[in-house]
Amino acid sequence: MSILQVTDVNKRFGGLQALDNVNLEVEEGAVHAIIGPNGAGKSTLLNCFVGRLVPDTGAVTFNGRSLLGIKPHEINQAGVSRVFQTPEIFEELSLIENIMIPAFAHRDGAFRLNAWNIVTGEKEIREKSEHILEDVDLIEKKDMLAGSLSRGDKRRLELAMCLVQDPKLLLLDEPTAGMSRADTNNTIDLLKRIGERKITKIVIEHDMHVVFSLAHKISVLAQGTVIAEGLPAEIKGNPKVQEAYLGG
Ligand code: ADP
Ligand code: MG
Repeated sequence: MSILQVTDVNKRFGGLQALDNVNLEVEEGAVHAIIGPNGAGKSTLLNCFVGRLVPDTGAVTFNGRSLLGIKPHEINQAGVSRVFQTPEIFEELSLIENIMIPAFAHRDGAFRLNAWNIVTGEKEIREKSEHILEDVDLIEKKDMLAGSLSRGDKRRLELAMCLVQDPKLLLLDEPTAGMSRADTNNTIDLLKRIGERKITKIVIEHDMHVVFSLAHKISVLAQGTVIAEGLPAEIKGNPKVQEAYLGG
């Protein structure tokens, strides 16, 4: 069963056709990789899934519901979370505070204070947030300021901010960009571990080692069009894919 369906999506920026009739179907529980050269339209496509951009034409359906014309926070409430290409965290807050904020936001849509100005359900949310920090191996740093983390740790923190919202669909835009090989391998293990088959994941990735370690299915985007799609083994030897990467 597919959880996300993208049908004939087009997006133009002035004279540039950034997405050109894109069709995509993401199976529930799968890790679906979207690969392709720089400027292929990968981030633009993800932006159409989270309400940051609206396609000029076409349809995006999540769990049978259209995502077009819905506000980003409503899409998030519906179960779609995204890890950005550049981590979006609260640098001046501690790690645990960074996780608790999206946990509250997801639960209530906004903070809810009782008569004593205490956030309701704080204890349970703190415990859940600590569990998630354990999952991403950041529990020892929970009281540090997020701004003081290394790049790899910041990305893990951002991932934790998504996980605390119990997403059904997790979108990862280049989750290992700028990481060392060791950090990349840690992230691969982490992504394999989290959610197992319960969280569907769409991963945009340059690093082929990451793609072939994680993906069940791969779609190749070039110049705004899906030029190939299939199992990792099918994509590996596909001459059209090699040509796109060589800029042929
Ligand atoms: P990718 O993520 O695959 O590297 P992008 O989706 O970021 O590619 O970009 C696809 C193309 O659209 C690029 O040529 C990029 O310069 C252009 N583009 C992306 N966002 C905008 C925007 N907001 N305005 C104008 N052009 C854009
Ligand atoms: Mg991009």
